Amino acid sequence: MIRKFENIKATTKRKWIKKTSRWGVDDKRYHNKKWRNLREKVLRTNPLCVNCERRDIIKQADVVDHVKPITAGGEFYNENNLQGLCHACHNRKSAQQHKKEIKENSFKKEGKHLKELQ
Ligand SMILES: [Zn+2]
Repeated sequence: MIRKFENIKATTKRKWIKKTSRWGVDDKRYHNKKWRNLREKVLRTNPLCVNCERRDIIKQADVVDHVKPITAGGEFYNENNLQGLCHACHNRKSAQQHKKEIKENSFKKEGKHLKELQ
């Protein structure tokens, strides 16, 4: 279900922005035309969730995901670094990646976030 951003309460928005910026998905590049076109192209050529497909499940891809995350040095506009995932797989992947990054950066920059998450 997609809620219209402007219909969401301001406090919820602030929380959402805080959360997503911590997860590195507030990148401005997600809002430009170049990304939108690329995203459409990827979904057109790969309409199924690649992760589910590996497990012989046919599920529509909803999200275009960076195979190698941007935060890990992946290329943003490289089609070869993009794959279609369903929401469930994408959320799982993001959560795992986030945990991994916290571990890798632990105590230095991310120390505060670690406390928040515990
Ligand atoms: Zn999936």
